[in-house]
Amino acid sequence: MESPSEIRESHRTFFKTNASKELSFRKKYLKALRDKIVEKEDDLCHALYQDFKKPTFEALASETQFVLSELNHIIKHLDYWAQTQRVSGSWANFPSRDYVQYEPYGNVLVIAPWNYPIQLALSPLIGALAAGNTVVIKPSELTPHAARIISEIIADVFPEDYVTVVEGGVETSQALLKEPWDYIFFTGSTRVGQIVYEAAAKHLTPVTLELGGKSPCIVDASANIKIAAKRIAWGKFLNAGQTCIAPDYVLVHEAVKEQLVHALKGAITTFYGSEPNQTDYARMVSDDHFERVKGYLEGQTLLSGGTCITSERYIAPTLLDDPSLDSKVMQDEVFGPVLPIIGYTDVSEIKKHIDHFSKPLALYVFSENRKFQKWVQKNFSFGGGAINDTVIHITNKKLPFGGVGASGINGYHGKNSFLTFSHKKSMVKRGTWLDIPMRYPPYELPLKWAKKIKHLF
Ligand code: NAD
Repeated sequence: MESPSEIRESHRTFFKTNASKELSFRKKYLKALRDKIVEKEDDLCHALYQDFKKPTFEALASETQFVLSELNHIIKHLDYWAQTQRVSGSWANFPSRDYVQYEPYGNVLVIAPWNYPIQLALSPLIGALAAGNTVVIKPSELTPHAARIISEIIADVFPEDYVTVVEGGVETSQALLKEPWDYIFFTGSTRVGQIVYEAAAKHLTPVTLELGGKSPCIVDASANIKIAAKRIAWGKFLNAGQTCIAPDYVLVHEAVKEQLVHALKGAITTFYGSEPNQTDYARMVSDDHFERVKGYLEGQTLLSGGTCITSERYIAPTLLDDPSLDSKVMQDEVFGPVLPIIGYTDVSEIKKHIDHFSKPLALYVFSENRKFQKWVQKNFSFGGGAINDTVIHITNKKLPFGGVGASGINGYHGKNSFLTFSHKKSMVKRGTWLDIPMRYPPYELPLKWAKKIKHLF
């Protein structure tokens, strides 16, 4: 296998040919990728099942169909987005033609996590290719079946010096990060995000960091509890809670707490049955993650669930009653099917909890009270979210997806992916038939004008 520097060098040589800048070239390969994903959809779903028993419906909806829909959207709009954007000129440059040109950064490195291993490797790839870059993808080592099939698909569709998959773990990732990439797109934990950012800083490489955090879900006394329970249980236990934008904990008004817990239990039973369900519920991805999430149950009051089967890496959908802020489950992002339910009586308690953590990736509020909905949006900074639902904001390609502060830098999806992977080159094109002398020394006359006009530009 080639070394990271050999791979980057071959990508650099390929990029210099300018082939990837041609719109027809970009679209040809995006279409070829689309055809290959359609052809391999069953194999992709099977790989996800082998890695952590991801249910086929979830694999289709959140991975293959998600990526196909992103591909269709980008292929359809790319010609329009890529056009030079004309802007009006400034009088200081008169006469001129001023415009923004979108140009690819060059050689992009994409580092992906394991929880949505197909979506989170291929969605950034699509954006980067649409913008005209070459791409190296490093999938997660924790989902080896998914990594293998991604590798095979990419090798089938793309020339090696245009798109390459490098399989491997932490050391491979670190070796790749030593190279001077033109752009790094990382999805993963905040801890590793810091390592990636430091590595990027050495070469002043721009980044997108798609990170995690503790995403709160607030349920106030006016909420439609039945709907709230269904939508919270769905967003939380999808992928067995291993979703970056899953509700991490619920803050519920004491007046409706009992009602919500009852409705959540009902929703869990309806969705997954009263016994561990074998088909519609994913497993923990690794023994370490199983032990980590199981550890969150120690010393806690269970409202429901709590069954853990080590040989299966199965943890039942679990509700915890009022864990304190210093308990283990409230120290880290849960990233598993355990949902703390915390009662509040005053909004100051909502503030106390949310402000205790860094800015989260998502926030959800269930309420029929518009004043309260507005209060929440105004008082807390977070990547994105929903009112009266969870998770679904990720499905709208017109909404940029990303974090803020410790939950991430920059965003993507749809046109925002194209923009994220494009440098916006500002150009002024001037004629030579007129050359107003006001900027040239000696400054005696220009200075008189400057003082009179005040606003020169
Ligand atoms: P992770 O940070 O452990 O690993 C992500 C990638 O980084 C993997 O490819 C891994 O090989 C590599 N990596 C791990 N340690 C490294 C190191 N020391 N140096 C260099 N590279 C290293 O994350 P994960 O466990 O795969 O994913 C879970 C995390 O990702 C959660 O925090 C979750 O919230 C977050 N996440 C965020 C999004 C988003 O879109 N914002 C999406 C999915 C997951």
